[in-house]
Amino acid sequence: MSVNQEGIGTLKLECPQSHPVGRILKEAPHQQVVFDPGAQVGPRRFWPDEEDQPQFTTRCRQCDKSVSGETTALQDKHRNLIMHSSETFETATLPFV
Ligand SMILES: [Zn+2]
Repeated sequence: MSVNQEGIGTLKLECPQSHPVGRILKEAPHQQVVFDPGAQVGPRRFWPDEEDQPQFTTRCRQCDKSVSGETTALQDKHRNLIMHSSETFETATLPFV
């Protein structure tokens, strides 16, 4: 299995205008899932945190609006990506709050 910088499974998050708003990713099987908001925005952090329940909310800096998604649905999607998909990444669109 090859492990690149995207890790073993990356869920790319976008606002409804297709701007990237961060990534949920796992770098290796034994590592925890992290949220990467983007290098210019801030550091990676473990995800989901308590504050991410039950809705995960982040901000599209280009639209200057918050976007939000159901945390469990995002977790399921990311888990399925790691377990079943032949691709290592997938995109999820988060609606505006
Ligand atoms: Zn946007």
